[in-house]
Amino acid sequence: MELNKCSRCGAFFTSNDVVCPNCEAQERLELSKLKDFLAENNVPTTSVEQISCSTGIAEKNVIRFLSQGEIN
Ligand SMILES: [Zn+2]
Repeated sequence: MELNKCSRCGAFFTSNDVVCPNCEAQERLELSKLKDFLAENNVPTTSVEQISCSTGIAEKNVIRFLSQGEIN
């Protein structure tokens, strides 16, 4: 099994996820919040800063969600 470093808190854990089990709930919550926001605000030019401000999700996590390609 591979050791991964949590993208949120930096803890090490063993699974194929991006975040550790402690952060999983928050990760899902923010991801769905971000998806809702993008669905309601169909603006491709919305900046990361604006998204972060409107959703309360940290900019680094917004960037990570977007770069993971989970948002379409
Ligand atoms: Zn974590």
